[in-house]
Amino acid sequence: MQTRLEIWEDKFMLCDDCVQVVANDDYSGIVDARQEKQIRQSLSSMAKQGMHISLGDSEKDETFSMELCDLCFSLAGRRTHCVVLYETWEQQDA
Ligand SMILES: [Zn+2]
Repeated sequence: MQTRLEIWEDKFMLCDDCVQVVANDDYSGIVDARQEKQIRQSLSSMAKQGMHISLGDSEKDETFSMELCDLCFSLAGRRTHCVVLYETWEQQDA
């Protein structure tokens, strides 16, 4: 069997804070302890399910969105397009 990554969610919009965490594992820009806790909880529950967030298509970034951030649920602002991938196993044909 081979593992491969499939797209779980093709539009996962992150605020600037979450992009820093996902791209650089950098929590230094986050001043709100509740926000940091939310991000860590979301990431750890996704990791347990074999899911990873990957930066997506920069042409789909939004300079301003009224939607909540998909990871920390923070309020309106700039959003960076990401995708969520999950590991799956490819069955070899017998
Ligand atoms: Zn966020």
